[in-house]
Amino acid sequence: MTMTNRRKSLENRKKRTMITDMEHNPVRTCIVCGGKHAKNTMFRLVFNGAPMADPLQRANGRGRYVCSDAWCCQKLTDGKILRRSFRVKSISDTDISSLTASLAAALERNLSGAV
Ligand SMILES: [Zn+2]
Repeated sequence: MTMTNRRKSLENRKKRTMITDMEHNPVRTCIVCGGKHAKNTMFRLVFNGAPMADPLQRANGRGRYVCSDAWCCQKLTDGKILRRSFRVKSISDTDISSLTASLAAALERNLSGAV
């Protein structure tokens, strides 16, 4: 009786741990290539009047994700992807270039951090 109860509670704990792990590492879709990656390996973008990088992934607003990959970040300079993804009619070139510049800087930091 005692044994069974103990085993049950252990199983429950295991289940709970699995769920927590999934919550800690959710998967998001890249707005550029459509690839799915762990959220914590991607750049979060929010739109608050202008598209912005959200390095802490905590800013309010509609969040979108892009791979921390030079190719995907470069593609954002097009603007079409951002407009479609955030469902806004227009984004100024200045806003787009400041976003892509901050992503490029973040990429560089990531790269230098890895070495
Ligand atoms: Zn991508």
